[in-house]
Amino acid sequence: MSDERVGFLGLGTMGAAMAANLARAGFAVTAWNRTRGRASELDSLGVTRAATPADVARAVDRLVICVSDTPDVEAVLFGAEGVAAGAREGQLVIDCSTISPSATRDFAERLAPAGVDLVDAPVSGGSEGAQKATLTIFCGGDASAVERATPILAAMGKTITHVGRSGSGQAVKAVNQVILAGTYLGVAEGIVLALKAGLDVEQVVAALGGGAAQSWVLANRSGRMIANDYPLGFKVALHRKDLAIALELAREMGAELPVAELAADFENDLVADGHADDDMSALARIIRKRSGLPG
Ligand code: NAP
Repeated sequence: MSDERVGFLGLGTMGAAMAANLARAGFAVTAWNRTRGRASELDSLGVTRAATPADVARAVDRLVICVSDTPDVEAVLFGAEGVAAGAREGQLVIDCSTISPSATRDFAERLAPAGVDLVDAPVSGGSEGAQKATLTIFCGGDASAVERATPILAAMGKTITHVGRSGSGQAVKAVNQVILAGTYLGVAEGIVLALKAGLDVEQVVAALGGGAAQSWVLANRSGRMIANDYPLGFKVALHRKDLAIALELAREMGAELPVAELAADFENDLVADGHADDDMSALARIIRKRSGLPG
């Protein structure tokens, strides 16, 4: 338990749940969200609100950011009344958004002259993980900064790994999203083949669960692919954003990722067809349609 004041910027699906867990862990949370009135459930947990990111920075020594994409983190840090405008020597910024590794290093370099450390700490585990404080977190930055971030991260997640210098946490998250792309596509193809072969698909899923093809996606998302119904867990549009980050990193490093490229193309088609807010398991729509099933 701690009664230290901690800042939180970005109260979306993930941020609101993570800020709530910080408050439950005993931190005194000062929060800000671009659109006012979001996450009113935080009021009953004693979370106070600030008018701008700079005001949050003036009130705390350590703060967490969880917003959508690279330009959004840049705006929150360096925009008018951004964090940098209220920052002072010795502060720590923990960025839990999923953004570009190279931009992260650039942000860290721009904060350093003011004596402000930046730790990149993207998360995996979805909205369920955010609510239950069981997120898996990959940290990039100086060891001393990651050490200062750890008690805060431990209130929001279960597995916290320091993976290297600034930007490395984001690079690991990119690897995570590439593996997920292949896993979702593989499970979708298997489900469609089972349907077309006239098998009892639920029985197939149960039987495969004990073998080498078992995965979180098979166990938790195959049901949606069978039902062709994709209620929200992780939005197609967000995974498409993450694949753009991963494919940019791959280009920079000279890696070829044909499966991730294919998943990105499929996700572009889903977005164009109005499925941006479907769960990512909606990748199965494309495989189903190509196989003559409703998609
Ligand atoms: P979300 O529900 O769409 O919320 C996005 C948040 O970012 C909102 O608070 C939004 O403010 C804020 N925001 C966006 N652009 C902004 C800007 N330019 N300036 C200030 N605030 C801005 O998204 P989410 O699901 O919480 O995701 C947040 C981050 O976590 C993303 O990087 C995502 O990739 C990552 N993530 C998400 C999941 C998941 O399952 N959802 C899992 C792992 C990681 P407004 O309220 O004003 O729009």
